[in-house]
Amino acid sequence: TCEAEAEAGSGAGAEAAHFVLVPLMAQGHMIPMVDMARLLAERGVRVTLITTPVNAARIRPIIDQVSRSNLPVEFVELRFPCAELGLPEGSENVDLLSSPAYYKPFFDAMKLLKEPLEALLRSQHRRPDCMIADMCNGWTKDVARRLGIQRLVFHGPSCFYILCAYNMVQHRVYDRATDELEPIVVPDVPVEVVTNKAESPGFFNWAGWEDLRDEVVEAESTADGVVINTFYDLEPSFVDCYEKIMQKKVWTVGPLCLYSKDVDSKAARGNKAAVDHRDVTTWLDSKGASSVFYVSFGSLVCTRPMQLIEIGKGLLECADHRPFIWVVKEAEIVPEVEKWLLEEHFAERTKERGLLIKGWAPQTVILSHPAIGGFLTHCGWNSTLEAISAGVPMLTWPHFADQFLNEKLVVDVLKIGRSLDVKVPSTHVTDDSTLLVTKEKLRKAVSELMEGEEGEEMRRRAKALAEKAKKAMEEGGSSYRNMDDMIEYMAGRYGKEEKVEDAVRASPMVLAPML
Ligand code: UDP
Repeated sequence: TCEAEAEAGSGAGAEAAHFVLVPLMAQGHMIPMVDMARLLAERGVRVTLITTPVNAARIRPIIDQVSRSNLPVEFVELRFPCAELGLPEGSENVDLLSSPAYYKPFFDAMKLLKEPLEALLRSQHRRPDCMIADMCNGWTKDVARRLGIQRLVFHGPSCFYILCAYNMVQHRVYDRATDELEPIVVPDVPVEVVTNKAESPGFFNWAGWEDLRDEVVEAESTADGVVINTFYDLEPSFVDCYEKIMQKKVWTVGPLCLYSKDVDSKAARGNKAAVDHRDVTTWLDSKGASSVFYVSFGSLVCTRPMQLIEIGKGLLECADHRPFIWVVKEAEIVPEVEKWLLEEHFAERTKERGLLIKGWAPQTVILSHPAIGGFLTHCGWNSTLEAISAGVPMLTWPHFADQFLNEKLVVDVLKIGRSLDVKVPSTHVTDDSTLLVTKEKLRKAVSELMEGEEGEEMRRRAKALAEKAKKAMEEGGSSYRNMDDMIEYMAGRYGKEEKVEDAVRASPMVLAPML
């Protein structure tokens, strides 16, 4: 029946295309893949999404919703091999790792999914037409090759970052830079980008991770194409440049967060929220348009106690009694922080104007509410795209990975954010008393973003981009068309009978027999 639905969806008589999606088990990677699975299914593709028991339990409401609506998405739970790699039981997602020492074993555990994945795909009555694997899952290339399945790489970050990162590796800038802080001009990008090794260390470019790094680079270069969670109008020159350099198909299919339109599905993304999203909405409803400042650093950043308290002080002391929502992770609420919150009577003092969310927040519900006027973000690409999709300007405080380059895109290229000028990756901070951002700096930046003329300009530009983002995802928009094109290309049908000759002429390989 699922297949019948899928065929009905594609309007075709042929058997539905079947895609297998292999995400990295990290929130910033899984959340957009789950959105993509549902989008593909709505376009008539039968989807198998690989997950694990703990990850599936976190998004049970989404799985139930998918099954109620008869969308042809099958969530397959593979056992995650924690014990084999010495990981504590249940460490099935990067945000569940209790120590950085578990990072490498976690990625090694991901690699052990190779055999069960191959066995699963062999057991199915028909091999999938396409595998879309997270770029971190380079190991999937062997599975796809052995089974004769075409494979696309899914990139979570901005195309701007991917292009910069790719060029830095190709031009061997890391070999030349002797000092971590030596300025690096990123080669071959359409704008001037200056970074350094500390900010942009390169993907998996650390001692002891060489095997993973090389595997990822190879998997990207041997892939049949690339899928990116961005939209063309956001970064056209970088998309064009990347496609030219890669000499393979690049499909921009985002912002994937716009898949969820109703508040219930927005609230169910990623994990069970620590608050009832209806209460948050009621609270936001009582605030003026663009008046509330939202603070959240994604799923992985863990802020040290003194820095966390400093942020709290900055929010408390905002001269204009600015309303705010502040998301703090459970792991960050150590006794020192708890004590400060109590001694400062934080809850009572901010009763009317503040909402402190301890744990997982329903982020897209919050960001898309008209009362939100600014967002202090770590520049994780999902958070950034979610802000862009909601037309919310940003205060930027990158911490690691792609975040410093995403910041440059937001602040220097798109001009929809103001930088807090943090130049040190949080991973380089070893001393608890180091404050990368003081309360004074935060206060000043918040008031400039929320009230200043420049902030207003940024908000205007952000809202214009939000319109473009929506258009991209609507029928006929660039991401919508790209998704269709990707499906047809990978299913080897290119518009089926009527266009089949064109497809043969354009790309004979696509019609090679599928196993
Ligand atoms: N997120 C959320 N609630 C939280 C924290 C994070 O819904 O309390 C979501 C957020 O909306 C985004 C993802 O988790 O979709 C985080 O991805 P991002 O790329 O922004 O950062 P990362 O967590 O990978 O650093």
